[in-house]
Amino acid sequence: MENTIVLEERLARCERENDELKLKVEELSDFFENASMPLHWVDAKGIIIWANQAELDALGYEKEEYIGFPIKNFHADPEVIQDILYRLSNDETLYDYTARLKCKDGSVKHVLINSNVLRKDGKFVHTRCFTRDITDRQQEDQRKNDFLAMVSHELKTPLTVVASYIQILLKKKQKNTDDFGLNVLKRMEVQVKKMILMAHDFLNLARIQDGKLELNRIEFDIDQLIGEVVESSRLLTTIHTIEVSGCTGVVVYADQDKIGQVLTNLVGNAIKYSPQGGPIIIGCEKLGDKVRISVSDQGIGIRQSDQTRLFERFYRINSKSNQGASGFGIGLYLVSEILQQHNSKIEVKSVENQGSRFYFDLDGVSIADGVHPVIKKS
Ligand code: ADP
Repeated sequence: MENTIVLEERLARCERENDELKLKVEELSDFFENASMPLHWVDAKGIIIWANQAELDALGYEKEEYIGFPIKNFHADPEVIQDILYRLSNDETLYDYTARLKCKDGSVKHVLINSNVLRKDGKFVHTRCFTRDITDRQQEDQRKNDFLAMVSHELKTPLTVVASYIQILLKKKQKNTDDFGLNVLKRMEVQVKKMILMAHDFLNLARIQDGKLELNRIEFDIDQLIGEVVESSRLLTTIHTIEVSGCTGVVVYADQDKIGQVLTNLVGNAIKYSPQGGPIIIGCEKLGDKVRISVSDQGIGIRQSDQTRLFERFYRINSKSNQGASGFGIGLYLVSEILQQHNSKIEVKSVENQGSRFYFDLDGVSIADGVHPVIKKS
């Protein structure tokens, strides 16, 4: 009798626990099925084995048109999904990975993917993938970018015309001794040149955002380019000396205009962030197949903790010493992107209140055989 009571009590407890468990399972499955964020699982072969309603609604497919099919069928960029699956199968966790998905109506959605893999006994079971739609944000960014490209392009032409007229007037004025007029013209020339450089920077920024920054690599004399940058940079300052060290007859294989912009930005910064004046040195040395180019100043320097973020888009250091310096925080970002396209990297060594040295390497051309190593290999 007593045993029966104990058994009945146990049975009742088991039933209660079972009901609670069922409720939990129902709640959890509701959470995943009806969450407002699109979710899916993909197996080791890249097949979608489960997707929630938000994912189906976002892309416009019925369950039977989506689940059971390879995930690659729904990606607009085959190399992107290949990379995603490769990373996940190597146990990487993806954070805000950008991708483009194909909707049933033929449109394409820009998304951010966050994903990792469920493994059992070391074996790949399925991915846990969260997808966030950023199409609106992307379109807004695209509109801003198009606007930036258009404005900077439209500004470049009239500014270049004004700069050439100033040049003509300067040549005429130099023949007579109207000091005031000559000075005004020289100042105008400096300001117009600054505006042209800004327009170039904005145009390049827009091109990078669109993935359209194309390089036109040629073999050219880096000494000559450095000479041109020094000459035009000297116009921007009366309190700095700008000198060149170490270059003679060095030929590189790179995009001449873009490396000119890199140097102009680095020298412009060296001037801007050395408010007390002082020497600025552009160095150039051969290192095997490479040519190392550097720009050094004795200005305000950069704290160690700021040095890693300098090359981010729109990043400006917020410190007392550079409060007077104006800028948009795109110069070093452009430098870094342009050099990345050359398979190079901008590096910095700096000590606060003592100065900075920015440097990078370019592919050198062997004068002996007149052939660039890159050309030789291919
Ligand atoms: P901007 O000069 O327009 O702010 P940059 O991208 O060219 O933008 O530079 C980013 C930041 O890096 C600057 O705001 C400045 O604080 C710092 N910086 C760049 N060059 C130097 C330098 N030569 N010396 C000290 N600080 C520098």
